[in-house]
Amino acid sequence: MKFKQLYQQGPRLSCEFFPPKTDQGEKNLWRCLDELKKLDPAYFSVTYGAGGSTQDRTKNIVTQIKERTGVEAVAHLTCVGSSSEQLGALLDDYAQAGMTHILALRGDKPEDQASFQVEKSGFAHATALVRLIAKTHADFAVAVATYPEGHPESKHGLDDDIRYLKMKQDEGATLAITQYFFDNEVFYRFRDKAVAAGVNLPIIPGIMPILNFTQIKRFSAMCGTSIPVSLHDKMTPVEDDLDAVKAIGIAVATAQCADLLKHDVAGLHFYTLNKADATCQIVKVLGL
Ligand SMILES: Cc1cc2nc3c(=O)[nH]c(=O)nc-3n(C[C@H](O)[C@H](O)[C@H](O)COP(=O)(O)OP(=O)(O)OC[C@H]3O[C@@H](n4cnc5c(N)ncnc54)[C@H](O)[C@@H]3O)c2cc1C
Repeated sequence: MKFKQLYQQGPRLSCEFFPPKTDQGEKNLWRCLDELKKLDPAYFSVTYGAGGSTQDRTKNIVTQIKERTGVEAVAHLTCVGSSSEQLGALLDDYAQAGMTHILALRGDKPEDQASFQVEKSGFAHATALVRLIAKTHADFAVAVATYPEGHPESKHGLDDDIRYLKMKQDEGATLAITQYFFDNEVFYRFRDKAVAAGVNLPIIPGIMPILNFTQIKRFSAMCGTSIPVSLHDKMTPVEDDLDAVKAIGIAVATAQCADLLKHDVAGLHFYTLNKADATCQIVKVLGL
């Protein structure tokens, strides 16, 4: 089913997970998916680790999701460490396994590299991966990432991000999911600019409920998400009290999502970090 059809009946949630490293982690993940499927999500997506390190684990989990939960599954795929032939072979494997939805990414550079290294006969940007998928698996639905606050490597700020989002759309992407952000005004400005530049695919905001503020400050510094002063002021006094952080994190994310829904977003994409509880609590209040 194409992405547009998944959102045809109105706004829906989607949930992102990472492939666990241990058997216990995998058991917990399936329990988490069983909880979240009750919320009727549009799809579950599974990340692909830095350096392609989780290729097998991503494939193993994502190809079982539809059968085990009845929910559409989206496989993240990055260009890191792969030639175009290897990416092509993985796409063929996915097609054979009945997968039809891919989130096409360039991926982050591995920690031991100073800048993103293009593999021999590999791709420097997600646009090229989108093109490959459109050419070789035209029946796949392709989503891409986008950055309302600008990707950290973008040379000309948001103009770059919008230009490359439009290029991804022109290559065949039919959905964009954003990096997480905490200031909705940033998202609305980005969306307006993107629409003015000819972007017409649904741009789904990425939502990160804060469960651990220390960790979020670290993630945010790496991915270029700003933390508004008001959020900082709420979280800092309780930073070491994880229950208090979670309560505030859920309240903040719920208010953020309610505002986004008032502003006509097609859906909400939750970065779950393999935990169901916060997303369930937020979605129940929203009545999605
Ligand atoms: C929803 C979401 C899910 C993610 N899932 C994963 C995951 O599973 N695994 C993982 O490793 N990472 C993941 N990431 C992180 C992502 O891989 C990084 O942000 C990465 O640095 C950029 O990936 P991209 O696909 O946006 O790259 P690109 O679109 O290629 O952009 C990378 C940089 O190059 C510039 N650029 C883009 N296209 C061109 C072009 N044609 N010519 C010149 N410059 C260009 C952009 O401005 C940007 O600065 C995810 C991010 C998001 C938002």
